[in-house]
Amino acid sequence: MTARVIIRDDDTSFFTTPEMLTVVYGRCWESGIPVCLSVIPARATARIEEPWLRSLVNSDYDPGIPERYRGSGRSYPVSENRELCAFINEKIYRGLVEVAVHGYGHASEFLSTDKDSIKEVLERSRSLLRSCFPTASLSTVVPPYECFSTQWIETLLDAGQNISTIYESFYLRSRRDRLRSWRRLLGERLGVNSLPPRTAERIGDSKLFFGLNFFLPQYDAEECLENAVRAFDACLRDEKVFVCTNHYYHFFDEHNGPREELLSAWHSFIEHMLRSNNVVWTTFENCSLNGG
Ligand SMILES: [Zn+2]
Repeated sequence: MTARVIIRDDDTSFFTTPEMLTVVYGRCWESGIPVCLSVIPARATARIEEPWLRSLVNSDYDPGIPERYRGSGRSYPVSENRELCAFINEKIYRGLVEVAVHGYGHASEFLSTDKDSIKEVLERSRSLLRSCFPTASLSTVVPPYECFSTQWIETLLDAGQNISTIYESFYLRSRRDRLRSWRRLLGERLGVNSLPPRTAERIGDSKLFFGLNFFLPQYDAEECLENAVRAFDACLRDEKVFVCTNHYYHFFDEHNGPREELLSAWHSFIEHMLRSNNVVWTTFENCSLNGG
């Protein structure tokens, strides 16, 4: 019994501090465990344009934007947070961080259906991240909100990029079905612990990784931990890849500091995984998939 485990954390951006990442992932890094950070190249702060997306996140603004920046109309390139870039580069050097491309501004760019503009956005995203993280592999793309057009997926597969998203987003083709399932996964307790039929696969030169969200502030922390343990144990038993997706900011209340119960549940989960002898801690880039 072996599980390949990838820890993915979304939404690192100009607004992220090394301290926040260390509070959540310091224990992993102490133990030599790599974390895949999905980094937003130039965080947009405008109101979300699409009404359905606003209703999906239950807010006019992306919840990852600190309140005082919301609606400022500016974009904030991660390159302007030099302290964060230096911190991440040092972790990349030590094999403790993999950087994935997480949109460009984390707005609705992944809903575009125009392939020329998609290629331009992808190139712009990669080159901005390349300028900040010169040695990062940048071989994986994580679509913001787990929502994307078919043309985006075709472009990424043509380019041989790896993709990490949720199974339902990838395989349910109609937007209505995807929305329904997204709501189910994020909005209902039962959905959180259901494992998809596959958690990783290969298509051509690309690897696909289907992540699972467990540690969400709207749920009871103990329940988050139980769901995560159950899913991890099932992946271990079935020798599946286990992609645990977090958003570091979920572990903090903007006005009241760290959410101690949720953090403690997350740390208990790391200890649970560390106690299992047959875990291969890996990254999207390094994870081997033998044809399935
Ligand atoms: Zn995101």
